Amino acid sequence: MTKASLGNGGRPLRVAIVGGGISGMATAYYLQQEARARGLNVNIHLLEASDRLGGVIHTVREHGFIVEGGPDCILSFKPAGVGLWKELGLEADIVGTSREHRGSYIYSRGALHPLPEGLTLMIPSKLGPLFRTRLVSWPGKLRAGLDLIWSRHSDGRDVSVAEFITAHLGQEVFERIVEPLFAGIYAGDARHLSLAATYPQLLEVEQRHGSLLRGLLLMQRQRRKGNGRGRASRYTPFVTLRAGLAQMVEALQSRLDGVNVHLRTRVRAVTRSNEGSPPQWRLIVDGGSPILADAVVVAAPAHASAAMLHSTDPELADTLARIPYASTVTVSLAFPRAEIAHPLNGYGFVVPRVEGRRLLACTWTSSKFPHRAPAGWALFRCFLGRAGDDDVVHLSDERLTALVLEELRAIMGVEAVPEHVWVFRWPRALPQYTVGHLERLRAVEERLKSRPGLFLVGNAYRGVGVPDRIAEAKEIAKHVLAGHTA
Ligand SMILES: Cc1cc2nc3c(=O)[nH]c(=O)nc-3n(C[C@H](O)[C@H](O)[C@H](O)COP(=O)(O)OP(=O)(O)OC[C@H]3O[C@@H](n4cnc5c(N)ncnc54)[C@H](O)[C@@H]3O)c2cc1C
Repeated sequence: MTKASLGNGGRPLRVAIVGGGISGMATAYYLQQEARARGLNVNIHLLEASDRLGGVIHTVREHGFIVEGGPDCILSFKPAGVGLWKELGLEADIVGTSREHRGSYIYSRGALHPLPEGLTLMIPSKLGPLFRTRLVSWPGKLRAGLDLIWSRHSDGRDVSVAEFITAHLGQEVFERIVEPLFAGIYAGDARHLSLAATYPQLLEVEQRHGSLLRGLLLMQRQRRKGNGRGRASRYTPFVTLRAGLAQMVEALQSRLDGVNVHLRTRVRAVTRSNEGSPPQWRLIVDGGSPILADAVVVAAPAHASAAMLHSTDPELADTLARIPYASTVTVSLAFPRAEIAHPLNGYGFVVPRVEGRRLLACTWTSSKFPHRAPAGWALFRCFLGRAGDDDVVHLSDERLTALVLEELRAIMGVEAVPEHVWVFRWPRALPQYTVGHLERLRAVEERLKSRPGLFLVGNAYRGVGVPDRIAEAKEIAKHVLAGHTA
């Protein structure tokens, strides 16, 4: 490879990436690919505190089950995710959701109700199903319908998801349909989540049409016309990999042949060093020698990044520390199928916050992705820990299992005892894009302008979904190498 003249006295550019979740791994991968494509000599170090790569992506393959501890599928219409899988040679292993057991449920007032058909951006956007659903009372439906004739425009303030949806569709549609779907993604409290930071598309619909419902109805119609012209995607909206999402982590890891991967390497501080010309970054590592780098990409959760950067830039660190996080737990349980009376005719259910239950959602994994459980078994994946219920991560496995079983008994009438249980705790793993989030991001960007060679990437900033993480990593890799030539 041509030796790069990188303004580093002729030596290779040294890049350190802190955090080996998908954000850090994908950054390392795209840096390596970009450097190779451009003939740059770049020395990449990926530093991960734990003993494995993948971060919250964690698949356990046991007793014939494929159990996801963290994410279990990705959105197929965000191109970065499926794009990377194809690039990694995983196309043949992309698995869609079962077409046999389509549909999901919302638990409300003592029963599981089918999610109204035809959601656009998580909002009901077909009048028939919205008026037929038993999730919302007739006054609630009429209130939602009022949006068609009583259009409004936000005043430009950063408003919460709750405020925006309630203003358009009323309290009941918000509480019984929209809130549980949002909470299923962010484990968040929609009364605090910023609409502009989570669903800016809804603001665009409002700006264009005034009425949210009318705008979404039009989008839904256009989509149907598009599909009629043969433009339907070959994938279901949610896809996964045959051997679990860890398959992506394993494939990526095997491709990082030009990257020095350091596991069990916790970075305590990222400071500016005066050694060398131009000045470098100095990473203080627990129990190891400091690492010098020309560029540092911090790909850790914002609270961990804040701790690392505090001595270098307290203002930046304070802003990062103000990004709140929710803690969640997933409990997967396997039962002999014959012991579950419920037909499991769908992908699972979500539970609205107003129900006052601790269970946030339950995926009927063996119906959604049948290959994940051996024949004759039912596999469920239950989520606990909505924003404000962080203490759930401190409960014992026994207590968590008992809690989940109590909930399944009350909601689905499950009386059976599971034969296998897997518990995964995710303390402070899901960032909350609360009102003011975009303002905080602008403040972070402002600080970074005066810190050349320092980059931040991760789910704390612009999207929590795995495809968002991959897309951002690709962008950051370009920025890191911008201005460097072979
Ligand atoms: C339970 C759960 C379910 C989810 N479900 C889905 C889903 O179905 N689909 C979807 O698209 N998304 C889902 N998400 C979101 C998505 O998985 C995450 O947003 C994404 O994987 C985060 O990747 P990341 O690399 O930014 O962060 P992380 O995965 O959190 O990785 C950060 C890494 O930094 C390391 N680190 C921290 N501090 C230091 C330090 N000081 N030194 C070195 N290393 C450090 C950590 O050990 C960790 O490995 C889910 C998330 C959770 C928690």
